[in-house]
Amino acid sequence: MSLLNIIEGKLPLSVHDYMQLCLQHPEYGYYRKAVAVGKQGDFITAPEISQIFGDLIGMWLRDVWQQLGEPEFHLVECGPGRGTLSADVLRMLPPCKLHLVESSETLREAQKEALWKHNPTWHDDLSTLPNDRPLLIIANEFFDAFPVRQWVGDEERKVVEGLAFSPQGEVTREESPMASQIMAQICERLKAQGGVFLTVDYGYLEGAGDTLQAVKKHTFHNPLETPGEADLTSHVDFSALKKVVEKVECMLMPIVTQEKFLRSLGGEIWLQKLLLKTTETQAQKDLQEGWLRLTSPATMGELFKVMAVLPNYEIQPGGFA
Ligand code: SAH
Repeated sequence: MSLLNIIEGKLPLSVHDYMQLCLQHPEYGYYRKAVAVGKQGDFITAPEISQIFGDLIGMWLRDVWQQLGEPEFHLVECGPGRGTLSADVLRMLPPCKLHLVESSETLREAQKEALWKHNPTWHDDLSTLPNDRPLLIIANEFFDAFPVRQWVGDEERKVVEGLAFSPQGEVTREESPMASQIMAQICERLKAQGGVFLTVDYGYLEGAGDTLQAVKKHTFHNPLETPGEADLTSHVDFSALKKVVEKVECMLMPIVTQEKFLRSLGGEIWLQKLLLKTTETQAQKDLQEGWLRLTSPATMGELFKVMAVLPNYEIQPGGFA
């Protein structure tokens, strides 16, 4: 049996259900098998590119925590991949309990290796997170991993016999019900317990049509070609997430690009500091190249957006001016 056989036996499937099977099938789904993230995997993410990313987010969280009056709190990372972001962030924070929301057993193993000394607790979803303290919640490239529904005119787009899209024609609308649902769940938690949610992802602020994409070994592929073998993602619809936040009456900082966020947190100065601390030429080169890759509009600087959600206007986090 292969995922291709399983899928062929179930056609026609909505694009949404096709994506869900490719990514999350209990045995053959993409996230259930290989460790995809990293240089050796299929795609590389901001925390894997440079520690500067996690350092700055850690400092941002520390500032939020201080503004909140330095309460005891839980740190939560959704979709932690190899655990690198949490490891970097935790160096900047006071001792706290770490919670990881992760659906993949394989990635949990990688996270165990990176984060064992912080003794994390794993969760299948947000419902089992503790409710006794404020939550500082972070997520990088999490929402892009959820299946999307697509429409061509009024008709929902499907994957049919012979692995083709139907109807043909341009996608006019895309929607991620799961992304909206998780955002609402996070907002309810913040309202009940206090804290903050920071998410970074590639996406758009206004309608973009078809953003379904497949990435394997760092290059783009046809999303219908090798089900379960490539990472299937979509661009995050930030305007849809924003609507959810407003509907449940949480507060939202203005959405900014990754470049703007990292620069306004003093990324350049932090880079210089790190450069002074290292004497090795290769490490210096890596730091400089990493910073460029994170911030340049030609690479991640502009496509990636940063969104912060708070339960009220009590505090003013930096990075969004
Ligand atoms: N944040 C990491 C990894 C991004 S990849 C980084 O920046 O490097 C997406 C992550 O989300 C993976 O850890 C994947 O297993 C996890 N994930 C995907 N769908 C999920 C779901 N429905 N519930 C929980 N985790 C999920």
